[in-house]
Amino acid sequence: MKEICPICDKKSRAKLIKKKEAMNVRGERINVEYEVFKCYACGEEYIDTETEYEPFVYAYAIYRKKHNMLHPQEIKEIRRKYGLTQSELGGLLGWGGATLSRYENGALQDKAHDNQLKLLREPRNMLKMITENLDALREQRRNQLLTNIKKLAKDEYPIKRFLKEWGTEREISVYSGYKSFDLDKLINCILYFCKDGLLKTVINKYLFYADFQHFKEYQTSITGARYVHLTYGPVPMNYDIYLATLVNEREIDVNEVFYEGKDFVGEEYKAIEAPILTLFSDSELKILATVKEHFKGYSAKAISDFSHEEKGYQETTKGQPISYEYAETLRM
Ligand SMILES: [Zn+2]
Repeated sequence: MKEICPICDKKSRAKLIKKKEAMNVRGERINVEYEVFKCYACGEEYIDTETEYEPFVYAYAIYRKKHNMLHPQEIKEIRRKYGLTQSELGGLLGWGGATLSRYENGALQDKAHDNQLKLLREPRNMLKMITENLDALREQRRNQLLTNIKKLAKDEYPIKRFLKEWGTEREISVYSGYKSFDLDKLINCILYFCKDGLLKTVINKYLFYADFQHFKEYQTSITGARYVHLTYGPVPMNYDIYLATLVNEREIDVNEVFYEGKDFVGEEYKAIEAPILTLFSDSELKILATVKEHFKGYSAKAISDFSHEEKGYQETTKGQPISYEYAETLRM
């Protein structure tokens, strides 16, 4: 390949070669592999300027994996799940916002800090920390956060615990939209869509379109749910268990609705609890609103017919999983 060499300034051929480098991370030797260009004119090696080589980014990733430590993105997700800012969570932990910001941006976290953050994945631990550090947050803000976290802490309910720990949908693949299954997000998507009451078959389509549209635009699904082809359209796997759980825990109400002259009875689901919107990223919120807006005024039959035209539905048969690769052809 012809390149301008940043060392001799000549336009010459350059060869890409693999290099190994031993890095020292906290006293441990970590081997990192990387690629450099070797210039034929001057014989010097240089690094591609577009994909800047940061050996420590690779070395830290290997180190984190080896020691089972949180990835920067996971640290960020823990904080975002509760709707906390960096300075709020840093303040609660007593580290300050700058430390947390450095961790989220790739600095290797202290092992003790890593353990503290891992504990905070459990809502009841976050609840405890906030109620034990009354000085860290203003009262109004604290109450606002506690409302949401208490709802997340309802995971102590046996059915939700069971689903989280034993749910079979944990594998990350093109069938999960390259995301691990997130029960909290799925439940709160349902609460968001059911605010004014929605038929069961319609909820499933809304979820399908939200996850697939997000995949189409951002290359990952929202909830990590897997979808299957059923007679009435695409549905999230085990959807009946999730809906039953929500009804059982009084987060959602279900009523039979009669359609006069149509000889048809449907089950309408209506949210009792408000959704926790801080769980979602900006792009996810945008897609949820788009789906709701798009299908406003559609009857259950119309949205069902619409979903039957999707390539992902047409090219699968009853009971088969639908790959997120079909999101590319989504008609929404
Ligand atoms: Zn050169």
